[in-house]
Amino acid sequence: MNSKIWLSLPHMGGNEQRFVKEAFDSNWVAPLGPNVDNFEEDISLYLKEDSYVAALSSGTAAIHLALILLRVQPGDEVICQSMTFSASANPIRYLGATPVFIDSERTTWNMDPAFLEEAIIDRLAKGTKPKAIIPVHLYGMPARMDEIIAIAKKYEIPIIEDAAEALGSSVSNKKCGTFGEIGILSFNGNKIITTSGGGALVSKNSEYIKEATFLATQARDAAPHYQHSKIGYNYRLSNICAGIGRGQMKVLPLRIDQRRANFFFYRNELSDLSGISFLEEPEDFYSNRWLTTILIDPNMGASREEIRLRLEQENIESRPLWKPMHLQPVFKGFPFYGHGVSKELFEDGLCLPSGSNLAETDLERVVNCLQKVYRK
Ligand SMILES: *Cc1c(COP(=O)(O)O)cnc(C)c1O
Repeated sequence: MNSKIWLSLPHMGGNEQRFVKEAFDSNWVAPLGPNVDNFEEDISLYLKEDSYVAALSSGTAAIHLALILLRVQPGDEVICQSMTFSASANPIRYLGATPVFIDSERTTWNMDPAFLEEAIIDRLAKGTKPKAIIPVHLYGMPARMDEIIAIAKKYEIPIIEDAAEALGSSVSNKKCGTFGEIGILSFNGNKIITTSGGGALVSKNSEYIKEATFLATQARDAAPHYQHSKIGYNYRLSNICAGIGRGQMKVLPLRIDQRRANFFFYRNELSDLSGISFLEEPEDFYSNRWLTTILIDPNMGASREEIRLRLEQENIESRPLWKPMHLQPVFKGFPFYGHGVSKELFEDGLCLPSGSNLAETDLERVVNCLQKVYRK
């Protein structure tokens, strides 16, 4: 049996252990320390736009805190892209608020601005003004932020930009994560860079970062004893994990090149197969190509599931595109605005192995397997 090819694995750059060792040598294993400060600064310098950054224990924690910063209360409504990973929407429910899901459009697979506006108009007519909008840059492809921001401004609703999958992606050279009132990043093990687990909250508004940091460290008031006037959370990134992050930031541009090279390799080798198509970047859009995704035309000889199983037989991991939230049992009954694009993408779409540490022979094995499906 050939060795297993995974969808997306961690890929260390070489300097991570140096920063982790520094933390050990100075016994700065805990609490917060220089690695956390430096990691935040590295991210801020990378994103530009005068971004302030709070390093947190996960991207999910960052979304939870973002909603708290925007004063989301039980019974409030929060608009969220339907086609995403569940962590975009779960924190809405942590707060007892109601998610309102929006369908995808075909040029980016992300939030459809037309349905976003339709939803806002309809929610306002029903007497509730949504408290926030959560667009997502899925698989690294930026959402149509110009249109989404124009609508958000028109109705004065803040944006929480879920850039968990899109560190390094940009629109007109402006980095994803810097478009919303608040941006969130993830450094989970499968993302383009990892701290073994972690996330960040990003904002131009330093008050948000101050409050997020306060809430993330148990909301301790200034006093010699433990004094609290707010409910707090234990959501900070450790100084050890931040050391891994500092090493990873050094290779982020290289990781983006490597992930994009995977995409171009697959596209070059497979674009002559009429059953398979790729998502191109709209003009001025730049995707980090975190995962290479394909659409499979089921009328051209094989369904998405047949192809996934063929890859699995050859010990190659692939995964259907994320199942939209409005089709998930746990979010049954919540409002949805759209006409089925995200459902179609889920049915026909597949994520191919996309790690930056894949060898060309690995990519060739994937390509050969797909070619065999169509040349039987
Ligand atoms: C990974 C991910 C998250 C959550 O990040 P964690 O660090 O795993 O908590 C949120 N949104 C999207 C779109 C993600 O892919």
